[in-house]
Amino acid sequence: MSVDRLAELVREHRPLVVLTGAGISTDSGIPDFRSATGIWAKYDPMEYAHIDAFRRDPEKVWEFYGRRLAVLRDAEPNDGHRALAELEDRGWVRAVITQNVDRLHERAGSRALVEVHGSMRTSSCLHCGAVVPMHEVVQLLPLPHCPSCGDVLKPDVVMFGELLPAAQIARAEHLAREAGLLLVVGSSLEVYPVAGLPLETLANGGMLAIVNRGGTQFDARASIVIDGAAGETLRALAQRLE
Ligand SMILES: [Zn+2]
Repeated sequence: MSVDRLAELVREHRPLVVLTGAGISTDSGIPDFRSATGIWAKYDPMEYAHIDAFRRDPEKVWEFYGRRLAVLRDAEPNDGHRALAELEDRGWVRAVITQNVDRLHERAGSRALVEVHGSMRTSSCLHCGAVVPMHEVVQLLPLPHCPSCGDVLKPDVVMFGELLPAAQIARAEHLAREAGLLLVVGSSLEVYPVAGLPLETLANGGMLAIVNRGGTQFDARASIVIDGAAGETLRALAQRLE
């Protein structure tokens, strides 16, 4: 029933803008961050994912990102990623804004993609600016050094203590303001400034739909909340919009 209602909202307010978080990728075997079994339950983000930790002890931080790279290399997009790419092809989805750095939306075929927390696709040298693709970085583990100048590379993801990429967040805010319907998938909407995007939509007369396991601070202001699996729900949505 609730997916029927979601499909109805999408028909009324197309094209929709989608905001995704870690919950869309757990079906692909990528652990989330904030749940009891998530990454931050095992790794203290201040020690493994903070820019100061990287400056202080890049080897330790790379031990963490090296493991994440290995998981990403073996992961495949799931029904949720594929359904969103299909819905974009068919004109239902204008863009996907994602907090994920796992490249699975891109690999599923999403084209209008805004990666507000960066991506594991590349690593960069903070000294000379060299950009090295993921498959080369994997060869340089455990501590990847810049092929040009020898300095330590940094994954092109936003670490704690760093600002979000300005152009990406500006694009995300613009999309959120213009959205007739913002569909949040698999994000607990706890991390700002991304958690502020629903406010941009609501303030400009748009509606909010949420598909997430567990509650969010915006549930009361959403037109529909589905407490369910991302892949199953998005697949069902794509079928209803055929
Ligand atoms: Zn360099």
